Amino acid sequence: MIKITFPDGTVRDYKAGVTGLELAREISPALAREVLSVTVNGEVTDLTRPINSDASIRLHKWDDEEGKHTFWHSSAHLMAEAIEQLWPGTKFGIGPAIENGFYYDIEPGSGRELTDDDLILIENKMKELASQNQPIERKEVSKKEAISYFTKKGDEYKLELINELEDGTISFYSSGTFVDLCRGPHLPSTEPIKAIKVMSLAGAYWRGDEKRKMLTRVYGITFPKQKMLDEYLAFLEEAKKRDHRRIGKELELFTFSPKVGMGLPLWMPKGAEIRASLINFLTSILKKRGYKIVATPHIGNVNLYKTSGHYEKYGESSFRPVSTPQEGEQFMLKPMNCPHHCEIYNATPHSYKDLPLRMAEFGTVYRYEQSGELHGLTRVRSFTQDDAHHFCRPDQLREEFKSIIDLVLYVFRILNFNEFTAQVSLRDPDHKEKYIGTDENWERAERDIIEAAAEMNLNTVIETGEAAFYGPKLDFMVKDAIGRKWQLGTIQVDYNLPERFDLTYNGSDNQKHRPVMIHRTIFGSMERFVAVLIENSAG
Ligand SMILES: [Zn+2]
Ligand SMILES: [Zn+2]
Repeated sequence: MIKITFPDGTVRDYKAGVTGLELAREISPALAREVLSVTVNGEVTDLTRPINSDASIRLHKWDDEEGKHTFWHSSAHLMAEAIEQLWPGTKFGIGPAIENGFYYDIEPGSGRELTDDDLILIENKMKELASQNQPIERKEVSKKEAISYFTKKGDEYKLELINELEDGTISFYSSGTFVDLCRGPHLPSTEPIKAIKVMSLAGAYWRGDEKRKMLTRVYGITFPKQKMLDEYLAFLEEAKKRDHRRIGKELELFTFSPKVGMGLPLWMPKGAEIRASLINFLTSILKKRGYKIVATPHIGNVNLYKTSGHYEKYGESSFRPVSTPQEGEQFMLKPMNCPHHCEIYNATPHSYKDLPLRMAEFGTVYRYEQSGELHGLTRVRSFTQDDAHHFCRPDQLREEFKSIIDLVLYVFRILNFNEFTAQVSLRDPDHKEKYIGTDENWERAERDIIEAAAEMNLNTVIETGEAAFYGPKLDFMVKDAIGRKWQLGTIQVDYNLPERFDLTYNGSDNQKHRPVMIHRTIFGSMERFVAVLIENSAG
């Protein structure tokens, strides 16, 4: 017998080998009809997988992310089966679930190019296959068997993936005529997949590598009910009407020019006016709230970013440094404003009595994004952050947090964002070694954030293990007029940069102490915020 612990804490004995589906059936036949996957000891798995030892379990329905994920990932297999039947010889890359639906990266058989006319063919084939209620079956295979299967099939993409796996960890899943290399989890059968839409095609480099082959990415979405699909498509129509890229063009707010460069927004007079009035609005509030406005250049010496650690993070995958005629001098476009601000802090001595110091700048930063990732004003290569850094004593952290939360709420209220959520990201207490800073500082900062949020009546979700290595943070998500969530402001504690830049203040004991640094934005960036304003108001 094994012990199964349910989410409500109930523990019951079962025969080893019991499955998630059997447990659901025992609770109620209705639940068994709705359940899609099961988490066993923290791992999401198939409902039909035998549970062989003591376990805590959680059953997932459509409303859980895990349930949707299983549903959509299984639908990706179904779509692959349809594509293989339509165009034999197709090779398959990967087919994951995504935020809305799923995709599969494929190389269609016999050099064929898919067009939008093929989408409906795939969709109809999927409907035909789904109505056959095909079971989705798991089989564990050795590495040798796996290699032999895909060698015979002639699918070098799957072979490349298999080669990176350890023998003994490889499984195949088959549904109908399609066999895939996959870890799972999947639905027990295609039966719950009732509504299907194959959405679009795109190009995608194999493994996201620009030097490798461009595959065809086929996007789809499925639902357990036709009504849900209809609602989703209506929502997309509404979102399309609000698309800031279309409205921005129509109202002549901003533009992009291939001659200037992809992802580099050009503000046209009307857009620049909106941008300037937002900056003026915020600047006047910042001045009232004790912020000091600073200005810094768009580039910085490479060594600045080696000191800050940003070179390690952004150096290789970012814009390359700019060289000057003088040998050995190299500059980077700034990916962040913080190092410049640290050096402004270091330019004068600070006493404990002068803190907190709140330093603000509308600072333009540059980050490399692959051209395929660029999207209107929300994914760009240059953007202007409404950035600020608070330098304070550890005992001032909570008050500083409260002042920032108050500021964010004030701005949201004036701009009519009335629905928002806030997420607090804490460190993973089981892996303290991954984080910089003392236990005492972390515990205090985490407590300060949580209490500051509570004192400000902020509704928060707490996520453990989501903190950056250098400090806990709080993120704001706003809900727009059609229910979409956008991440805007962030408040981030940092114990790292004060160390790296050797920031100090003179304490009341006349000794040198380390200040704490808080990074914060309210809009996130001017580009992103204007995009959200446009999409929220539909222009
Ligand atoms: Zn799969
Ligand atoms: Zn910063």
